[in-house]
Amino acid sequence: MNNPLLQKFNTKHTTAPFSQIKNEHFKPAFKEAIKKAKAEIGAFTNNTSVPTFENTIETLEFSGKTLKRISSVFFNLNSAETNDEIQKIAQEVSPWLSDFANDIRLNEELYKRVKTVYENRKNIDLTAEQQMLLNNQYKMFVRNGANLNDDDKETLRGIDKKLSKLSLQFGENILAETNAFELHITDENQLKGLPDGAKEAAQLLAKEKEKQGWIFTLDYPSYIPFMTYIDDRSLREKLAKIFGARAFQNNDNDNQQVVLDIVKLRHQRANLLDYKTHSHFVLEERMAETPEKVISFSNELLAKAKPAAEREFKQLSSFAQKDGIQQLQKWDGAYYSEKLKKELFDLDQEALKPYFKLENVIEGIFTIANKLFCLQFKEIHDIDKYHEEVKTYEVTNSNGDFIAVFYADFFPRKGKRNGAWMTSYKDQWKVDDKNSRPHISIVCNFTKPTETKPSLLTFNEVTTLFHEFGHALHGMLANTTYPSLSGTNVYWDFVELPSQLLENWCYEKEALDLFAKHYETDEPIPMEMVQKIKDSSNFLEGMQTLRQLSFGLLDMSWHGGEHSPSKIKDVKGFESEAFADTQLYPDVVENCMSTAFSHIFQGGYSSGYYSYKWAEVLDADAFEAFKETGIFNIETAKRFAENVLSQGGTEKPMILYKQFRGKEPNSDALLKRAGLLK
Ligand SMILES: [Zn+2]
Repeated sequence: MNNPLLQKFNTKHTTAPFSQIKNEHFKPAFKEAIKKAKAEIGAFTNNTSVPTFENTIETLEFSGKTLKRISSVFFNLNSAETNDEIQKIAQEVSPWLSDFANDIRLNEELYKRVKTVYENRKNIDLTAEQQMLLNNQYKMFVRNGANLNDDDKETLRGIDKKLSKLSLQFGENILAETNAFELHITDENQLKGLPDGAKEAAQLLAKEKEKQGWIFTLDYPSYIPFMTYIDDRSLREKLAKIFGARAFQNNDNDNQQVVLDIVKLRHQRANLLDYKTHSHFVLEERMAETPEKVISFSNELLAKAKPAAEREFKQLSSFAQKDGIQQLQKWDGAYYSEKLKKELFDLDQEALKPYFKLENVIEGIFTIANKLFCLQFKEIHDIDKYHEEVKTYEVTNSNGDFIAVFYADFFPRKGKRNGAWMTSYKDQWKVDDKNSRPHISIVCNFTKPTETKPSLLTFNEVTTLFHEFGHALHGMLANTTYPSLSGTNVYWDFVELPSQLLENWCYEKEALDLFAKHYETDEPIPMEMVQKIKDSSNFLEGMQTLRQLSFGLLDMSWHGGEHSPSKIKDVKGFESEAFADTQLYPDVVENCMSTAFSHIFQGGYSSGYYSYKWAEVLDADAFEAFKETGIFNIETAKRFAENVLSQGGTEKPMILYKQFRGKEPNSDALLKRAGLLK
């Protein structure tokens, strides 16, 4: 069969030939590419020559190129332009891919070769990037038990199996609890306060279930507007308590034992691999490096944010007192925050939108990228795209050298998942002095144009676009030798630095003046609106910070605490202890956070929740460097590009950061930006 996925891409810049790819090409292409990758690895594994960095580490790094290419095309499409058929293929090929990954990780011959090179590393002349690659490969095996004896290996596999089952079960229990509940309202009076959009959505939900009136569920798009706007306090209390009791009701869907089992097994696994706790295991591959560092970072921030949080809580409480509320409860938080925000700032999101026509914002971002990094974006029409709405650009530098292909896909469609993300169709790498440039893509779900109006973005959409574009710059400016260390392939708590950093330009007049113009009159955005945006973005920042820190510290207590997990018996009690320093609202005894804390018990964020605040500290501190020298200072931008954006994961993040900033990051800039430090 003439399968375009298995041929060399002969398109411009070797971009993916979307117009030739049909769904039936994927499965045979995956099969063939896996076979090829296995053969490549087999060939050098069975090699009897002495293992060297080149014949082992580099060869492994560059093996399976075709497979990586096909995977990125396929899984990107499955996110941005999917259908039943693609989803079915995804289900079939995913196990093939995880089997293949396991074949590599458990390949003892391969490990022996990598280990030989690793143990000899002092005697070979390696660049920092090469040392990083060697270390990563070696660790990949070791962290999966390659150095254990056979019995312990068996134990480890057993633990991994149990853990993957448990995390699935954790998610299923929450889903079951979420789906088991609906709030059916038939008296419209009870909906007072709710905006029309949310009301219509609730009505539609009722209609779908062939019922009269309005239905609300525990899904966020239904739950959040309800808690933010419904005037009826008893209804808010009811829904909040049901939400907070998910998987904590001593029924079939209870997650208490699941939580205890997960933390116990993670701890055992870490001990088996010679780490003190699960957090020590996880953080070894993070910028923060140790749980001690995460905890001291969190506590330091806590000490500084807490007074502000308490002040804000008092302010919110006295605001609510006008409604006769004596004690502010959890179900009052979102509701009165929204009301107070409106009273203080009266920032009308709708009035902002005319200043943010999508085309103007994109042009603005390109201008900013040009001012900072001398990049030029030229829209091109001669490469394939997977949907007619996708825009394609050729990116060049000031010498006119080709830097990257940039895809931008802005509007919601059936077949596109929610949210916004950056991804790549091809990584960057160097072979034989040839620098093979990347193909980067951003995918969003922004307000669509209508027959009478162009696409006018909300301010939130503007910051989202800047955020994803920051990730895209990380990808586009990549300049490393090895693809696994290129661009956004960095430690988790470092990856949000470029994206969050770029968001800062959205709040600066000098930057807004470049693009925030009324789409009909060309009038620049009024300065008082900009000030309002700034002020309102700091609204209740102390309370927000406390909340984030409380989740991060809970995560660290479960996974890196002094308690041996096998001694923990009471989930709620343990949680209350971990929350002791961070709570503003009275506790709700029948509710529990941990039993529904999907980030850490279902997703891959265990010992990682702190990363949100960590990244904020980094981006605020980094932006401070720009503020000190001017937000369009080309030298500062150059230092950032040379030491961070182009370096990917070739060096430890702290080293890269210090090279850019001249010092370690500290939280002062964040606290100042958030208005928490006078
Ligand atoms: Zn991001």
